Amino acid sequence: MSKSSSFIPIYDFSPSVNANYLKQILPLLVRHNVAANPINYAIWYDYVAESNSSLTRAVNSLIAEQKKFDYETSVDLYKTHICNASLESFEQINRQLHKVIEQATSAINDTYHKAEETNDSFQKKSVILENFSASGGLKTVLQEIIQETKSLALTSQAMQAKLTDANREMEQLREELAQVKQIATTDGLTGLLNRRAFDMTLAEIVESSAPEMTCLSMLDIDHFKRINDTYGHTIGDNVIKYVATLMKKHAEDHHHVARYGGEELAIIMPNTRAERAFQISENIRSAMEASRLQRKNDNQPLGKITLSIGVARLQAGDDSESFLVRADNALYQAKQSGRNKVVPS
Ligand code: GH3
Ligand code: MG
Ligand code: MG
Repeated sequence: MSKSSSFIPIYDFSPSVNANYLKQILPLLVRHNVAANPINYAIWYDYVAESNSSLTRAVNSLIAEQKKFDYETSVDLYKTHICNASLESFEQINRQLHKVIEQATSAINDTYHKAEETNDSFQKKSVILENFSASGGLKTVLQEIIQETKSLALTSQAMQAKLTDANREMEQLREELAQVKQIATTDGLTGLLNRRAFDMTLAEIVESSAPEMTCLSMLDIDHFKRINDTYGHTIGDNVIKYVATLMKKHAEDHHHVARYGGEELAIIMPNTRAERAFQISENIRSAMEASRLQRKNDNQPLGKITLSIGVARLQAGDDSESFLVRADNALYQAKQSGRNKVVPS
């Protein structure tokens, strides 16, 4: 059963449970004419295991509408209900972990302070008795109590040391989880947000921001295929990296710069007016036009490399797809009208 309760979904490893799922999955794959590849198997596995309610609902409604489980539908189901579910639950773990750490630390601190207080109070009583009590018996009893209290404080100290260690380990775990998340959302070549992080960020921002105040720039390197063909793929990669650094340099700190795919990059600009979004895009375009890149080993100039950019402004009624389509259309216009241009939608 996939529980989606960690970054990598947790599956049941019991052979008998899985054999049972297999028996149910295969007829479903045949009935819905679905290829038994890993993506499809993951979808129908979760469906049979009844472990992923949003996926089950989505699959049931596709069955009810007699829709085909073609490649795009399957990838969409997988991305939405399996990948994203695990990323969300991963964030939840992070929050829970933090809460556990805080609660444990505060509980042990309370215990420790209470024990210390008790000890202090008995110490005071002992001094009083030493001065005023003539009763040896009573004094002995009280000294025993003091001993016991001291030992309680020591036990408590040892317990606190253990919990401090546990606390440190949990903090380390939290940092590791944060690193895993960073890797899962970062593009390996450029260090920008990757496509998955771009999709999630865009959806979140479109849902939560006021129209007119969010802009999106889509950027594509002009004639990039020629660069690859003339200088090779590695130089092509370095050009993509260079464009990424220009984008980071010109975008504002609260903007989200992403590699949308291949040599297409994007900037999501929340709280940014259209004029400013256009200006930033124009700064990137002109900086690229003015750049004179050279091959590292022999300083051979790569010639002028240019960018085309489409800029769209979020409008009332937009979802992330319609927003993206408008920016993409503007980019297409920039290409059509001669490249090396910024075109607003
Ligand atoms: P246009 O001006 O119309 O954008 O022309 P173009 O040649 O840039 O467009 P096209 O989309 O035909 O070519 C993009 C090329 O980018 C094709 C692909 O091989 C290359 N490419 C995609 N991803 C990478 C990558 O990560 N590294 C390198 N070096 N090349 C890539
Ligand atoms: Mg392209
Ligand atoms: Mg291109």
